[in-house]
Amino acid sequence: MTNPTTSSTQRERFVQTLTEQMAKLAETVSLWVSSEPRTLGEMELHSMRVLKDLGASMLTGLCHLYSPSYPAPTSACACGQDATFVRRRPATVKTVLGAIRVVRP
Ligand SMILES: [Zn+2]
Repeated sequence: MTNPTTSSTQRERFVQTLTEQMAKLAETVSLWVSSEPRTLGEMELHSMRVLKDLGASMLTGLCHLYSPSYPAPTSACACGQDATFVRRRPATVKTVLGAIRVVRP
């Protein structure tokens, strides 16, 4: 499903942010693994932990991209009248990648 209101600038920012995070992460884990002897089990756990954090960050970014920059001023309400857009509310959502913070209409 494509979101026509997601601008290419927002997508570019998302890609750039994620790329920078991945580069920083690669730097950090390579220092971590060579700082002292590590077992495969330690590397496995460490990889899972940092990838979960990166995944949560990616998921937050995806939610941000999915949410339109300029919400419609009104939307159809179940009662048949128009509901007026008031504000976005912050929410913390539990996901398989941990709790993420998003804004929702
Ligand atoms: Zn209504």
